Amino acid sequence: MNTPRLDINLDKIFHNASVLVKRLKEDGISVTGVTKAFLGAPQIARIMLKAGVTSLGDSRISNIERMRHAGILARMVLIRSPMISQVDRVVASADMSVNTELDVLCALSAAALRIGKVHDVLLMVELGDLREGIMPSDISDFVQQVALLPNIKLMGLGTNLACRNGISPDNENMTKLSAAVRQLYAANSVNATIVSGGNSSNLNWIFDGGKIGKINNLRLGESILLGREPLQRKAILGLFTDATKLVAEVIESKIKPSKAWGTIAQSAFKGARNSVGSGNINQAILAIGRQDTDPEGLQAPKGVIVLDASSDHTILDTGKNKLRVGEEVSFQLNYSALLSAMTSPYVSKNFTGSSAILRPNPDLHFLPAAA
Ligand SMILES: *Cc1c(COP(=O)(O)O)cnc(C)c1O
Repeated sequence: MNTPRLDINLDKIFHNASVLVKRLKEDGISVTGVTKAFLGAPQIARIMLKAGVTSLGDSRISNIERMRHAGILARMVLIRSPMISQVDRVVASADMSVNTELDVLCALSAAALRIGKVHDVLLMVELGDLREGIMPSDISDFVQQVALLPNIKLMGLGTNLACRNGISPDNENMTKLSAAVRQLYAANSVNATIVSGGNSSNLNWIFDGGKIGKINNLRLGESILLGREPLQRKAILGLFTDATKLVAEVIESKIKPSKAWGTIAQSAFKGARNSVGSGNINQAILAIGRQDTDPEGLQAPKGVIVLDASSDHTILDTGKNKLRVGEEVSFQLNYSALLSAMTSPYVSKNFTGSSAILRPNPDLHFLPAAA
């Protein structure tokens, strides 16, 4: 089989999505399945829908178009503010987009009018992470402006934390979102229905009994795909963290000194450095590198350490075992490694698993930690 490759187990992704959908349903929260890490792969979209997500979210219109072309009819949300240069594509393929700029909304309105469609919008509220969002004090005026735009329907409010500054969702900022929603209802007689509280980083707060208030939707990617919450990168109980594995092949395996020799200057990807240690190690080289993935985000098998990586070589200390040339080594990945591996044309994508029927999980909190 081709290497390097991503082995993507659809059964495990289905399991992760189902568990999260069921658990959040108890709190009246629907799930938008976020497909961007898999570039809008229709296989992932279908498995998420089968698990009960109520809509699909992606940050790129090209990914949404890819899913549409594959015949997926589900509700799709563009979860990054549309580029003005792409509004025609946005209203044609996405049912809803998240927004923070009136200029964009005017352009969306004109585009929707041209094709006789109504485009739904969610306004994003800034709650401290300082990525996208309208300042809370500006929401009221903003909503009044949006109400004047033909063919635009305001569906509600959303927010996004953690992605830029690691600001954690908590009762304080989440209560502010609910307060903004109440204010919207009161002041503008807006019949908003969606309150999208955030992404996978909201899960800890919810599972720990956070005050959910008016929040009725989350947009989940990483937790479904990798089984981890993004704040501490801890495994979520009952979910698989190995739904996707990156497999690479050994091209050299030798006993070598652990310490380099000669005059030391800068290496390809780091400043001047000294390799450490003394004595000999079992060193293996994999035919994978920075053009394929983010080597810092690879979790090696037990007893193996990732020492360094350059454009197309990754160097391992394989401990007591000497690997065979031609042998495959597989890694779990973090979000960064997954993103770059999915995006690299050098990494083949291998979907595995049946069409996904696993044991139902009656109680998330009493399941053993995922392997
Ligand atoms: C990427 C993204 C998400 C999904 O985040 P995860 O941490 O992968 O769950 C949700 N909302 C927005 C706006 C995003 O950009």
